Amino acid sequence: MKTQVAIIGAGPAGLLLSHLLDQQGVESVVLERASRPHVEGRLRAGVLEQGTVRLMRQVGVHDRLDREGLIHQGVKLAFNGRVERIDFVRQTNTPITVYGQTKVTADLIEARLARGGRIEFEAPVKAIKNYLEGRPRLVFDQQGQGRELICDFVAGCDGQHGQARRSIEGQGVQLFEKSTPFGWLGLLAEVPPVDKELIYANHPRGFALCSMRSPTRSRYYLQCPITDRVEQWSDAAFWDELRRRLPPAIAERVVTGPRLEMSIAPLRSSVVEPLRFGRLFLAGDAAHIVPPTGAKGLNLAASDAYYLSRALAAFYADRRTDLMDRYSQTCLRRVWGAIRFSWWYTQVLHKFDDDPFSQRLQSAELLYLTGSEAARTAFAENYVGLPFEPFE
Ligand SMILES: Cc1cc2nc3c(=O)[nH]c(=O)nc-3n(C[C@H](O)[C@H](O)[C@H](O)COP(=O)(O)OP(=O)(O)OC[C@H]3O[C@@H](n4cnc5c(N)ncnc54)[C@H](O)[C@@H]3O)c2cc1C
Repeated sequence: MKTQVAIIGAGPAGLLLSHLLDQQGVESVVLERASRPHVEGRLRAGVLEQGTVRLMRQVGVHDRLDREGLIHQGVKLAFNGRVERIDFVRQTNTPITVYGQTKVTADLIEARLARGGRIEFEAPVKAIKNYLEGRPRLVFDQQGQGRELICDFVAGCDGQHGQARRSIEGQGVQLFEKSTPFGWLGLLAEVPPVDKELIYANHPRGFALCSMRSPTRSRYYLQCPITDRVEQWSDAAFWDELRRRLPPAIAERVVTGPRLEMSIAPLRSSVVEPLRFGRLFLAGDAAHIVPPTGAKGLNLAASDAYYLSRALAAFYADRRTDLMDRYSQTCLRRVWGAIRFSWWYTQVLHKFDDDPFSQRLQSAELLYLTGSEAARTAFAENYVGLPFEPFE
């Protein structure tokens, strides 16, 4: 098999990249380890920045997004028994869109296949060869057979545990990492959300988040020790703890129901530098992980795909290599901006220790954030997404 760009991974980064390349006349093949139902069923992010929505429109995959995406004009913060709202549209003239990652990936896959694109499911990449010099070759398995894909460039969009990240070990990679001793216990239920907007709650017992996937489907999260196991948590224990961490007026409106899913996600920041190794480029979670607090993971995957598509398209159109040379530094500026925001927001909302000094600091920070026009604007700018840099 031969192609111009071999994309490893059919997550948001790889799928969006294949669409963006196609639009610019560049051929690609996506190799995905898992089956199509598995990829489409993976429950993860749910908040789309305006830039991500624009990219979905640009590639013409927006019919269902327009119909079912929930436009949110603001977000609520609950702390010290009060509830404050930050209005994104007032502060930045930009809303966010709540639309589940399961729908994003399903829509991108359906459209790609309908347009004749190639996505090979159940085709795990085992090795990436010749990416530093010569023509890269991907060695992958399919139906028990070893196969090869020869290409000009490789886009490693295969997440944090993928082959791309493994392949660059020992290549002078710098790894920047920070983790927390807690995670998020998430519960999905077919019940109406407690509010029209997301509610982020800072509470002495720990953080809670009220979120949703649709007007009838809610996603709630609780800060929990990273050592907790899902089996330790009954539905009743989850709902009780959630109510305890919310202001009473909100807690009494929570509609409970049996879990459709429950899982624990770690909170971790991790960045690999650089993002380019010869003819191999990293994008999305393969390059960086952000704690979910700022809802940035999926959105960074989308902006990486945008920058990489532009760089590769410029090469095929005009033999330009300068955009590829700048890919790493251009992406990393936006990535570190998102890491800064996500880490700060994580620190302000979560319980790190029992020290009353830390609690007073968090209170002061949240009062300043919600009380100052300048602070509200700075928060809104970051939450709705920093602008894409011109990349010409
Ligand atoms: C449990 C969980 C909860 C999350 N919650 C949120 C949230 O609330 N908000 C938010 O913004 N972000 C969240 N994220 C992060 C967000 O989902 C990711 O940032 C996003 O999926 C990144 O997209 P990606 O395409 O880079 O990687 P992925 O979506 O991970 O896709 C990578 C793909 O590569 C495939 N792959 C891996 N190895 C190979 C191989 N060797 N060969 C072929 N294919 C391979 C995988 O099967 C996968 O389909 C969450 C992540 C997790 C894990």
